This record gives sequence, C-alpha cells and structure tokens, in this order.
Amino acid sequence: MQDTFVHKGKRKILTEYLREKIGISDRDVLAAMNAVPRHLFIESIFEDFAYEDRAFPILAHQTISHPSTVAEQTELLMLKPGEKVLEIGTGCGYQTAVLLAMKTLVYTVERQKDLFDYAKTKFRELNLSPKFQSFGDGFAGLPTFAPFDKIIVTCGASVLPTELLKQLKIGGVMVIPLGPTNEQVLFRFTKKSDSEIEKEEFGAYKFVPMLKNTNL
Ligand code: SAH
Repeated sequence: MQDTFVHKGKRKILTEYLREKIGISDRDVLAAMNAVPRHLFIESIFEDFAYEDRAFPILAHQTISHPSTVAEQTELLMLKPGEKVLEIGTGCGYQTAVLLAMKTLVYTVERQKDLFDYAKTKFRELNLSPKFQSFGDGFAGLPTFAPFDKIIVTCGASVLPTELLKQLKIGGVMVIPLGPTNEQVLFRFTKKSDSEIEKEEFGAYKFVPMLKNTNL
C-alpha cells in the first residue's frame, strides 16, 4: 500500500477536524497527526475509512484508537523533543508512530504476541525506530529503562498501576484511562515529588481493557 495524494488529502482534512472540532491546539501534535499514514497500520479493507474519526479492529480482538483519542492523549503528554516516553499497549503501532513523529524516544510494551510481531514488522516496513519494543505485561513497566519523562497507557486500567508511577521522573506525566471495561475516565497524573501526585481528569472514553500477564 502506498501513501498517495488522496491519503495525504484525507489526512489534512482529519487534521483540520482535530483542530476545529476536537480542540487540539498543539501545533506539533497536529503536524504529527498530519504526518503519520494511519491507513498503513490497519487492514486494507478499512483503508477508505482510515481518516475518519473511527476505531477499527486490529489483531487479537484489540482496536486501534480513534484519531481524536490518539491526538488528545498525545497533547496531554506535553511532549518535548528528546523526552523518554513509555507506551503501554503498542497495538498496531500507530500511536507509537505519532510519538516518534513528536521526536521522542519511545519504549513500548505489548502483551499480545501477535500484535507485538505485527508492530515489529510495521516499524521495519515504515522505517520507524522506537528505542525499545517489549513483549510483556505493561503493569510492570520497564524498570531497566526507567525513569521516564512521560508514560502513556493506551488501554483502560481498572486499578491504577502504581509501578508505572514509580518509573516516572519527578516532574513527569502519565496519561492513563482508568475505570471498568468500556467506561473509563482519562486522567493525567503529574509526579510533583516522590510523595505528591497531582491528578487531573479529562472526560469519559472507551478503551480495551488493560489485562495482566501475557496472551491470556
Ligand atoms: N496504541 C494502540 C492501541 C491499541 S489498543 C494502537 O495505536 O493501535 C490497546 C493495546 O493495549 C492492545 O493492543 C492490548 O493488547 C494492549 N494491552 C492491554 N493490556 C496490556 C498490558 N498489561 N500490557 C501491555 N499491553 C497491554
């Protein structure tokens, strides 16, 4: 599959929609959304709809998030070039590609082997280089590479993964949906000090659940 002028045109319209209707204002986030070819991360049968604000099934009964959700989570991270970002839930690799387009160093974890392999192939095909791609349970984070400037969780956690907060730098930010299956609230946690965490709330979302262990 190619990235044609038709795809680029549709992407531009989506980016305008994200700015005007969703309220994304960070220029770098909008540029990243305009740059990453979302249609190349999903199955070809969905190609014509890739630039609509829709989620699609990917492997292992998971879904690629809505572009608006990807843009909002990315904006909430307040990324700066060169920051170390831990992503939990690689999925098809689209959000990873958006984080890389923000010029960050990405460490990403996925618990489904099929998706881990799928994303690995995608990254190679599209010449994308996350710092580290891990097959494992994101509840444990990546202690070897900690601490991180930012953490993004792309699946809904029923309990706050405290291990992830431990792996955040002081001043670091974690964006995570919390709540039961299919009805989470998006939160941003800012680690003010080892004992003080600021918590902000950003409305209701539907994510696939964050599950423990691998491949169950
Ligand atoms: N960012 C992804 C979204 C995929 S959906 C994309 O752009 O495609 C969320 C992903 O989180 C799924 O792939 C799911 O398998 C994964 N996931 C769920 N629980 C997890 C865990 N404990 N550790 C790592 N990944 C997890």
